[in-house]
Parts: sequence; structure tokens; C-alpha cells
Amino acid sequence: MSWETVIGLEVHCQINTDTKAFCGCSTAFGSEPNTQTCPVCLGMPGQLPVLNTLAVDKSILTGLAINADINLESKFDRKNYFYPDLPKGYQITQFTVPIVEGGHIDIVSKEGVKKRLGVTRIHMEEDAGKSMHEGLDAVSHIDLNRSGIPLMEIVSEPDMRSADEAIAYLKQLHQIIRFLGVSGADMEKGQFRCDANVSVRRTGEPFGTRTEMKNMNSFRFIKQAIEFEVVRQIEIIEDGGKIVQESRLWDSVKNESRSMRSKEEAHDYRYFPEPDLPPLRVSQAHVDAIKDSMPELPGQLRQRFETDFNLSAYDADVLTQTRATAEWYETLVAAHPADPKRCANWMANELLGRLKEAGKNLASSPVSALRLAALLDRIADNTINGKSAKDILDDMMVSDDSADAIIESKGLKQVSDSGAIDAIIQAVMAANPNQVEGYRGGKDKLMGFFVGQVMKASRGKANPAMVNQRLKALLNG
Ligand code: ADP
Ligand code: MG
Ligand code: ZN
Repeated sequence: MSWETVIGLEVHCQINTDTKAFCGCSTAFGSEPNTQTCPVCLGMPGQLPVLNTLAVDKSILTGLAINADINLESKFDRKNYFYPDLPKGYQITQFTVPIVEGGHIDIVSKEGVKKRLGVTRIHMEEDAGKSMHEGLDAVSHIDLNRSGIPLMEIVSEPDMRSADEAIAYLKQLHQIIRFLGVSGADMEKGQFRCDANVSVRRTGEPFGTRTEMKNMNSFRFIKQAIEFEVVRQIEIIEDGGKIVQESRLWDSVKNESRSMRSKEEAHDYRYFPEPDLPPLRVSQAHVDAIKDSMPELPGQLRQRFETDFNLSAYDADVLTQTRATAEWYETLVAAHPADPKRCANWMANELLGRLKEAGKNLASSPVSALRLAALLDRIADNTINGKSAKDILDDMMVSDDSADAIIESKGLKQVSDSGAIDAIIQAVMAANPNQVEGYRGGKDKLMGFFVGQVMKASRGKANPAMVNQRLKALLNG
């Protein structure tokens, strides 16, 4: 019997408010350690937390975006444990009643298959500080700037059946969060981190025992970690062993995971209701107002691009990766409205490809949407062919010249004069009598050879459609 993988994901996402969850300290990233702290987030006795309502609104917006239910009354609890980066000795978190329950995220597999993945809940909590061990002469330091930054923990149902599905879910969630503007979601800054719960079972059997890989912040590592864990678990079971429920750490240097702690060593967090905060109450009217403010979501935008611009699902996906990418495309289409498909091809394949090679992105692109549109206009009116246009775009990447100026200075104007093209064709035919005979004797494939020769002889400037048409006429004539 074959094996099936079961995955459930927990995502910790920093909510991008200017101030922390329960005090007025700044959340700015990268400041000197311990410069953004106060008695509340340092865990001094007798200090009272005051809830950041913007963090609440952003959690609600996220819940609404994934079609979840918003609890008009939710609760905060204390999760008790000792760790040096947790000065209070407990974390304030929503345990018994989270603000968001249910909902789902839709993914499309590489094979184009759609799947709906369930979300169990989103609860609000606060981040811990940061221990720093590296480069400090065997001494550990603590930075409490992060202590008290608001987080959303987004917990999925165990609905994923492969590492690829898990990554598709994470990417879609990441994109939604970026579109909503509720988090910077910068993975390198730890603003979007994932715990992956993984188990395996033989098809049709109940769920197996899971392990949990903690705190990963790169899609690539998450995929590697899941794939490694699946193989490890299957080997253990096939050798007659049992999976131990445990937390594991992924070592991205050694490409392997190792045990952190097993369930027996797991903390008993002694959750109890946070006595310093009243239940969190929001009105339905407030939730409705947040719903009305919802921006266009990635799925809606993709759909609109497919319908309005007649794009393939693939192109629509590439061009809606970020809101800025989509806006760039829309500016391009507005300037070259005759052919949205051409705009998509040139932006997605030619421009983005060149930008990537140059280590740049759209924001730092030397070619603006309007400059690219002017180049596409010259393809549309047959001034240049596609081959020349690619060379011109290369030039535009490293100069401020317009497409027209480059066409002029390099003499790239396409030859669409049938007399001139006929002359080239006749020269090519005279130079290749055997091929002419072959073609006339039925070797149709030689057409490609002739097109190539004529284009070469014209130094790429001949109008390809006209070359095809005239070649057929003269070869058959
Ligand atoms: P914990 O608090 O210990 O992390 P949760 O009940 O919050 O436990 O579950 C954490 C995650 O584990 C959820 O995303 C859930 O979907 C996933 N999960 C639960 N059971 C399994 C299983 N057998 N295999 C894989 N994932 C699982
Ligand atoms: Mg967990
Ligand atoms: Zn503070």
C-alpha cells in the first residue's frame, strides 16, 4: 500500500502596527537592541497592558479575506513558560476563544488542479524577545525590542497532502497578507514564520503521529524540511518503529532535522484567562465597516486579468504577484491598449527576465511602462520585428534612449518593401540551388531554412510575415 503525507501549518505573522500589542513602544525593525522597550514589554511587575486596536482590526481584515467567522467576543489567556527572551514569564495569547475561526485558502497545483485548504483559526498574541548567540564570545545577549510586537497565528487544518501543496498554501497566504497590507511579511526579517506539522499514513488509514518542525522562514527550507521528514517517518515505520510526537529543528546547512523536545518533555503551559485584559468585544457594525474597506484580493485580481485582458492563468498569476507588479502591467496596457497579450508577453518574459539578470526589479527598472509601451507600438505598426525589438530592449536597459531613437540610430527599421524583400529572396535562391530543387521536389520543411537565410541576409530587418508570403510565391513560382 502506498504512503500518504499529511501536513498542517502554523504561521506566525507580525502585524505591522507602529506600536506594540500592549504598550506604546515602537516596532521599527533594526534599531539598536533594547531601545524600544518600556516597563510593560519588559515585564515589570504591576504594569498593565492596553490592547492595540489597530492590531485587532488587521486580524479581523485577515479573517474576512479568507472567509472566516469573526468572534464578536474573544479572550486573551496567559501561556506560562520560562525563557530568557520572555521577561514576564508568560505570553499573552488567545487560547480558548480566538478572534477568527474557520475560513479557507484556495490553491492551484502546478498541474492546474484547484484545491480548498481549511484554516482552523487565527488568534492574536505577542512576540517574544530575541536571544543572540552569534559572534558574541560564548555569551548570549537578549534584545527585547521584539518583545510585545503583535502577531497573528494562522493555524491550518491538516489538509495538505504534499510539500508542494504546503508551499502553495503558504505562498497564497503570504500574498493575501501582503495585499491586505496587514504585515510586511518579510520572511528574512522573521515577519512570516512557519511551523510545519507532518505525519504519514497508509492510504485509507487514520492520521499518524505527527512531528512539528519549528520556526522556518524560507519557502525552500520548508519544502526541504517536509520532504526530509516524510522520508524519515516512512523509513522508521517500514523498519517496524514508531513515530515519536516531538518538535524538530531544521538544519538548513546539513539538510537534516534533529529532535528539540519530545511530547513527554513538552511544556504544560498552565493556560488561564489573562486577568489584566477584559474580553475583546467588537461590534458587527465595526466588522462590516472593515469588510467594506477590503482591497481587491490576489484571487480576484487574477480573475480580472484573465477576463479583462484575456490572459492565460499562468500569465495572470505572474503579473499579479504583487500589487505593484499588477499596477505596472495596467499602466503598460493603458499606454498600449491594442494588445494586452503582447504587453503581458513583453513584460513577463522579456522585461522581468532582463531585470532578474541585472539583479533589479520593477521598482528599480531602467525601463518604465511608458517607454516599453512606445517600443511595443513600433512592433504593432510594423516598424520593427520582434527580433529587433528584443535587441532594442537590451539597449534600453542600459541607456535612456527611446525606442524610436534607437531604431533611428541603429537603422533597425523593418524592411516591408516587397521589391527589396524579393531581391534578397532571389539572391538567397541563387546561392542555394540544391535547396530550391529540394523544396520544389516536395521537401516543405526547407521553408524554415529559406526564412532563416533571408532574415539573416536582411540583418534581421525583414518583415517576417512578408518574407513568408513572398518566399512561398517565389519558390512555388
Ligand atoms: P499544537 O498546539 O501542539 O501545535 P494544534 O492542535 O494547534 O497543536 O495543531 C497544530 C497543527 O497540527 C495544526 O495545523 C493541525 O492541522 C496539525 N495537525 C494535527 N494533527 C496532525 C497530523 N496527524 N498530521 C499532520 N498535521 C497535523
Ligand atoms: Mg504547534
Ligand atoms: Zn513597551
